[in-house]
Amino acid sequence: MGIVVQKYGGSSLADADAIKRVARRIAEAKKDGNDVVVAVSAMGDSTDNLLDLAAEVSPLPPARELDMLLTAGERISMALVAMAISDLGYTARSFTGSQAGVITDSVHGKAKIIDVTPGRIRDAIAEGHIVIVAGFQGVSQDTKEITTLGRGGTDTTAVALAAALHADVCEIYTDVDGVFTADPRIVPTARKLDTVTFEEMLELAACGAKVLHLRSVEYARRYDIPIHVRSSFSQLMGTIVSGSINDPRSEDSTVEEPIIAGVAHDRSEAKITVVGVPDKVGEAARIFEALAEAQINLDMIVQNVSAAATNLTDISFTLPRTDATTAMKALEDLRGEIGFDSLLFDDKIGKISLIGAGMRSHPGVSAKFFSALAGAGVNIGMISTSEIRISVVVAETDVDAGVAAAHTAFALDADEVEAVVYGGTGR
Ligand code: ADP
Ligand code: ASP
Ligand code: MG
Repeated sequence: MGIVVQKYGGSSLADADAIKRVARRIAEAKKDGNDVVVAVSAMGDSTDNLLDLAAEVSPLPPARELDMLLTAGERISMALVAMAISDLGYTARSFTGSQAGVITDSVHGKAKIIDVTPGRIRDAIAEGHIVIVAGFQGVSQDTKEITTLGRGGTDTTAVALAAALHADVCEIYTDVDGVFTADPRIVPTARKLDTVTFEEMLELAACGAKVLHLRSVEYARRYDIPIHVRSSFSQLMGTIVSGSINDPRSEDSTVEEPIIAGVAHDRSEAKITVVGVPDKVGEAARIFEALAEAQINLDMIVQNVSAAATNLTDISFTLPRTDATTAMKALEDLRGEIGFDSLLFDDKIGKISLIGAGMRSHPGVSAKFFSALAGAGVNIGMISTSEIRISVVVAETDVDAGVAAAHTAFALDADEVEAVVYGGTGR
């Protein structure tokens, strides 16, 4: 008998009826003869609501207590799902991340899973139970504190469980029918992808397509676990995330590889410009060392040519908006030492990314992308590229128009609208 790991997101568990519906779906998998292990997210927008509540109580809540608070959301759903399953005549056992053996590092708010020791899960399976695990959480090996894995982290819980249990399949149930060529909430003509490679999905997730948590894709790629992303609201086949862009294509394949897998967008970043940095050896290193010490992950970095008259240059970079205050403070502390002129801050930006393995062998992709943006009146602020991605920073208000224009320019629009958004608030 095979083990099936399933994950249900908050949008699939929004209220009591939704929980009963999910319980029926889980019971079906058990009835089909599988051992079933399920990772659940907090109900609906409850993680956001808990965060709002914390902000009302304290402007800067201690990270340990914030994790204690947020993990409660997943505990609520795991118990309710287990109760609903028992009403269907099956037995279920719910476990917190810590009880399930999800071991992490000790970074509160964005902990990494370092090991999964699923002894209690295995015992419960052996006793014939369906296992429900609270997603998005674990316990630190060093500090023994409860940690969370970052927003969207239940996807990663599910993939880590699938790897540890050598599951046959890891199914991620959400509120859309799979991974689309763009977010169906802003491009209704987006097309569902039947398959997408790990590398392309990594880029999509890293560039804001929150249908999968970035770490879950990294994990799945490392352990070579295919992920099936599908809707909990329909019975349709979803998207299989598997394989590499470097896999040889099957010889009888007559279908031409699409150039572009999809267009992703991200409104969670901000841009900081350090104006008037003396153009001499070591200044950039000092700036970025200070940011690294503050544990800030940067995305794009652009340094302009220095003006001959002044020998001063500007350095701009993007970072998560949530880290902006810390970054500004770290840079302000350096001003005396480096002697730059000023700092500019802009959080009204968005990023649009075009992703596709086919761009490696097709010239002119950037030109087509940029002219599509120009045609939509979208001004480009910054550009960065990888082997299979081109990203641009634009004004936040231009994101929707830019994504739609790029989607159309690369002929990704479906003839008939198939991108149904079944639930969720998109928050
Ligand atoms: P869940 O609560 O199931 O974890 P999420 O809200 O985290 O759901 O992720 C699903 C959402 O991801 C969809 O409702 C959709 O708006 C968004 N999304 C963004 N980009 C894509 C994409 N390329 N394909 C599918 N969904 C996407
Ligand atoms: N409940 C958490 C969140 O909203 C984790 C998850 O849903 O995956 O981010
Ligand atoms: Mg999610």
